[in-house]
Amino acid sequence: MDDDALKAAVDLVGRTGATGFEIGYLRDGVPVEEAGWYAHAQYRGARITSEEHRGPIEAVEALARKLLTGAKCTHCKKLVALSDDGAIAYNGLLADGTRWTVEQARAAGQCRWRRIGPRWVRGCERPAPPRPTGKPRRAKRRRRG
Ligand SMILES: [Zn+2]
Repeated sequence: MDDDALKAAVDLVGRTGATGFEIGYLRDGVPVEEAGWYAHAQYRGARITSEEHRGPIEAVEALARKLLTGAKCTHCKKLVALSDDGAIAYNGLLADGTRWTVEQARAAGQCRWRRIGPRWVRGCERPAPPRPTGKPRRAKRRRRG
């Protein structure tokens, strides 16, 4: 099981301001992959659901992607893109209830999000400086003689 996908989704849902988060399945007495896994995030007045998945990880990953699709990056205010092919924009309401049109989204530009391990990372986020790993540095060896 890919714990990172689950952690990343839980973290993301929390960051979007959801008041609740639930993972579950609909059917008992069937093979796990036929149980109908779902995940949903609860917001004030709205519930975003992703359902009929083969497992909990697939369900949360799909929910995370659903939350990000057409969303506005909370940091740079650009349209979230989940692939290099570009973002999907649609007229609608953001999770916080703000209206955001396709025109506004297009004009905003794009911010490429990707899941890196246990976290969804925004494109506008500068990666943390690498920590010293304690590994010996590869020194250039000079041949003597
Ligand atoms: Zn951004």
